Amino acid sequence: MSEQNLELPAVARNINLPCKKCGVDRYFVVVAHLTPSSAKVKCEVCGANKTYKLPKVQVRKKVSFGKAAPKKVDAGQLWIDLKTQIGTDKVHPYNMKIKFAIAQVINHPKFGIGFITSATPEKVEVAFQDCGRSLVHNRP
Ligand SMILES: [Zn+2]
Repeated sequence: MSEQNLELPAVARNINLPCKKCGVDRYFVVVAHLTPSSAKVKCEVCGANKTYKLPKVQVRKKVSFGKAAPKKVDAGQLWIDLKTQIGTDKVHPYNMKIKFAIAQVINHPKFGIGFITSATPEKVEVAFQDCGRSLVHNRP
């Protein structure tokens, strides 16, 4: 997951923000940029100062099948994305004798619920909640 910063409004520009003192949304004038993502702003009506921080926009990556599950980094997020996209209505108990396919859900006795993100005739890459793992399958 990556984060993208929006740009601060320019100094002397007006932005609409809730004013605690006025109790309603007011126009605040941008007085100064404090950091690349925060600015000092002043209520045009009551003169109250506050710090305006840019909201961080999260860019959600689409999960693409066929790619190996990332190890450790973002494994939890990938797992949640896969759970949302695939669901856990149909969970297969993991067994190395069974042949699994991409996007199937397995329940591993040790690692728990996992989503298959890629498959070769011998191995499957499985995204578990803590990390991605390679498991053997299709071994009758
Ligand atoms: Zn105010």
